[in-house]
Amino acid sequence: MTPAHILRDRTLRRFAVFLALIAAALPAAALAFSLLAQRTAQAMLLERDGAVASALLAQGMAENDIAAALAASEVSGAGRALLARIGRTAATPGLLLPELAGYRQAVLPAALAAAGLLAALLLGGALVFARAQAARLAGAERLLRRYAEGDFSARLPRDAEGPLGSLFAAAEELATMLQAKTEAEHRAQQFLKQTIADISHQLKTPLAALGLYQEIIAAEPDNADAVRAFAGKAGDALLRMESLIQAMLKITRLDAGSIRFAPAACPLPDLAGRAVRDLLTRAEREGKRIRLEGDPALTLWCDPDWTAEALGNLVKNGLDHTAAGGLVQVTWRHTPGMVQVQVADNGSGIAPEDIHHIFKRFYRGRSGPDARGAGLGLPLARAIVEGQGGAVTVQSTPGQGSVFAVSFPDGPDGLTEL
Ligand code: ADP
Repeated sequence: MTPAHILRDRTLRRFAVFLALIAAALPAAALAFSLLAQRTAQAMLLERDGAVASALLAQGMAENDIAAALAASEVSGAGRALLARIGRTAATPGLLLPELAGYRQAVLPAALAAAGLLAALLLGGALVFARAQAARLAGAERLLRRYAEGDFSARLPRDAEGPLGSLFAAAEELATMLQAKTEAEHRAQQFLKQTIADISHQLKTPLAALGLYQEIIAAEPDNADAVRAFAGKAGDALLRMESLIQAMLKITRLDAGSIRFAPAACPLPDLAGRAVRDLLTRAEREGKRIRLEGDPALTLWCDPDWTAEALGNLVKNGLDHTAAGGLVQVTWRHTPGMVQVQVADNGSGIAPEDIHHIFKRFYRGRSGPDARGAGLGLPLARAIVEGQGGAVTVQSTPGQGSVFAVSFPDGPDGLTEL
């Protein structure tokens, strides 16, 4: 961490400026102190010279001689000897004591005051800085605790720079991840709740019917017609429940990512043939036609079993919503970068108020003639196609029919045609 990075923090920068000011004030204070000391010493020496000059004048010494004596700067041996004889040496106890005491009295308070002021400034400044920094950290801590409780309404300040700014940015990244995870968990919980409610709702009716059929059969065991009729109905209800549970399990496994698709190059005529195989008898029985059309050499890179099931669901829906004499057409073509399979019918079409909801689980159109549908065919088809990187779209005109388009990107090496 470089000093430049550290000083990007606003509070640290201010404190550094404050310290620089104090550091600049120190030599200024020393200079002022030495000037004061010089003046004080000068006044004392002048006082001393005054006393000596006064004494010499009183003894009748000529003024010129006194002036020359005071201006002298050389110290002779005789002079030193005289001072020693009259007891004025450096070792003399109490020599110049009153003057020195006066000197200390004049200089010491100023020195103490300056030192005290600087120390107080330093301590005060450090305290203010520490409090400001502690307040910012305490605010951040409060906010992080709110994050931990799942409240992301407030955010750490974004204008913080320097080391604290880096820390806040890292904490914000963590909070964003936590928020996304919390929201995903909440959504998953809601979804699970809704799914459980939907399943129990869907199973309730056939289960109640089964109970009723069983009661009727138990009440009239000798009535062969009733037993046969209600056993048949019970069989239907069981089949319905089985297909519902199967579809639900498949969607859940697709959602959980526990299904591994096994993609391969699938010739489209084969794939479309597989998709409609189980529906041909039904179509014939109901007087409807299923037509397959497209380039016989075109292949699709996909999992054949799952994709045939998705296309089969679309064809089944076409039959469900087409009247006798109707037509369900499966066509395929290659467009740049992708292969598209269309399932079109000339049936009832989809009401505009339904079209945005038909891929939702358990959604059933209001005007559909098939009252037995569970609303899982389209969501399953979409989950299968999207799970392989494809997409399903729909276009429909009420009264004229619907077109479902399944688009897959080209397979490896642009493999689309044999
Ligand atoms: P289900 O067919 O079991 O009701 P789906 O998920 O397959 O469930 O379809 C949901 C709804 O979409 C249907 O109830 C129907 O209203 C509408 N729908 C789907 N395909 C067609 C179609 N080809 N023509 C008209 N309506 C359709």
